[in-house]
Amino acid sequence: MDYTIKDFLKRRPQRLCKMCGKCCRVVVASVPHDELLKHAKEGDKSSIEFLELFEPYENVEAAMEVDAEIVKNIPDYQNRTFYHCRYLQDDNLCSRYQTRYEVCKLFPSSPWAVYPPGCGFEGWLFQEREKHKKSIRKLKEDRLYYQAKLNTPITDKERDLYNQLIDKINQRVDLYAKYGSKDW
Ligand code: SF4
Ligand code: SF4
Repeated sequence: MDYTIKDFLKRRPQRLCKMCGKCCRVVVASVPHDELLKHAKEGDKSSIEFLELFEPYENVEAAMEVDAEIVKNIPDYQNRTFYHCRYLQDDNLCSRYQTRYEVCKLFPSSPWAVYPPGCGFEGWLFQEREKHKKSIRKLKEDRLYYQAKLNTPITDKERDLYNQLIDKINQRVDLYAKYGSKDW
């Protein structure tokens, strides 16, 4: 587990979980179902564990009957496969709590985790995303400053330093590119 996730989980206030079971009742995978099966067949641990826990709903309508709000919250939901966990009890508690997998223990494991509407972590995750955005915006301001410096009479040593700093900022922005950091 990388440092960023560890740090995030350490700060995540577990008391915010409402124990509503929504994150176990109507769930989507990050890849299509047939790909998931293929990965599991090839021995991919997380795909094997996912399929052990989650059973696909017969169709999207069946998942909507259980929780239409969660389903409609997922982009392109008409073409997605939705799952429910075999181990979720009627009282919303987990029947294999002691042996549940990491994927369960860690959820939500990042500020950009896909969570059900009404999840107790919603507000906190929003704040976390805003914190990231703020720090990236600050870095972009610094980048503009360094870029402007490159157009002034400076020594080769200073030029190298500014280029290094710009590279570092670009790497940091790229790290969050899939979450839209280029547009923040
Ligand atoms: S194993 Fe337990 S915690 Fe994990 S998804 Fe199922 S019910 Fe939820
Ligand atoms: S949806 Fe959120 S609040 Fe509900 S059980 Fe899952 S993590 Fe907890």
